[in-house]
Amino acid sequence: VKCSKDKLGLYLHVPFCLSKCKYCHFYSENISNFQSFKELYWKSLKRELEFFKDFNFTFETLYVGGGTPNSIPVSFLARILELVHSQLNLGKVIEKSIELNPERINKSLLDLLKAFGFNRISIGVQSFVDHELRLLGRRHTAKDAERAIKFCQDQGIENINIDLLFAFKGQTQKTWEFTIHKAIQMDVKHISTYSMTYEKGALENLVNYNPDTFVKLFKIKDKLLKSNHFRRYEISNYAKRGYECLHNLKYWLRHYYLGLGPSASGFYRAESEIRYTNPANIKDYAQGKKWVEVLTEEKALTEEIFLRIRTIYGWKADKDFLELAKSHLGPLISVKNNALKLSEKGVLVADSVTLKILELYEDYRQRT
Ligand code: SF4
Repeated sequence: VKCSKDKLGLYLHVPFCLSKCKYCHFYSENISNFQSFKELYWKSLKRELEFFKDFNFTFETLYVGGGTPNSIPVSFLARILELVHSQLNLGKVIEKSIELNPERINKSLLDLLKAFGFNRISIGVQSFVDHELRLLGRRHTAKDAERAIKFCQDQGIENINIDLLFAFKGQTQKTWEFTIHKAIQMDVKHISTYSMTYEKGALENLVNYNPDTFVKLFKIKDKLLKSNHFRRYEISNYAKRGYECLHNLKYWLRHYYLGLGPSASGFYRAESEIRYTNPANIKDYAQGKKWVEVLTEEKALTEEIFLRIRTIYGWKADKDFLELAKSHLGPLISVKNNALKLSEKGVLVADSVTLKILELYEDYRQRT
């Protein structure tokens, strides 16, 4: 893995969207409220940055997400990017990503992003089928998404991710195959596939609870993507070699990161390890409120197991425990170079396998 533990990731949350998608649980305000919130957001961001400035962290990745970072005026995006760059040490950042929705991607936006050194764009495509996009409450059409990807590529951005959704009601095997084929054809380097079944805030009538459907759809994309040179390096994420997202790897490998903006969370070490989450509300965020948790060693270990077994890197454990896990979970896990991870079968029932591993390890630790 190319990212190093001693440098942090930096996440910046832009809390505005053009409208609310039906399945979304991320915090955002409607863009019609932008004028009334923009100065408060900017000032609060400045205050949060001033707090973290004194820590003198060095960063390796920057990820601007939301919300929809391209729903706000380009001039305001420039203002917040300037602010962040002036307050923190971003000189060693090697990956700068930004999430964009297909609508409102234009030359002045990309010029700004290039000037700030952005080298990775993540586009919220979700589906290449128009009636599915309407069902999900998305504003763009499949053609808009294709045009946006092509435009970014033509403007010299080759490291592009697209987000795709699966296992929602109304989607069929055929439409899912079509979407995946289209994604492959567009020559993007990274594809994130999220299943509606795991989206907490998803509307009841959009969620497909049938586990057989989930397994079928999971297998379809897994097979298609793998046979087209994508590697699944985390349970939901596929990349061509060398295009893994370093920022997201920081989350999964339990590296430290700061999150700025309402609803953002961070994880860093002061005297002990700390996780914090900002309120999902600009007004409360402006008051400097934060939910803070000091992690115990036990919690840290649970996180390490939970996060790492979903990646291809796995979780390093001692030999005796690995044997024990193999005897209980057999084909659901795979063990290589003393690292345990979910097997091809295991990823299909990831939550229950993870729980079992945590239980087994708890037992094992008490006995040894
Ligand atoms: S899915 Fe994206 S664009 Fe839609 S409401 Fe959520 S953050 Fe906004």
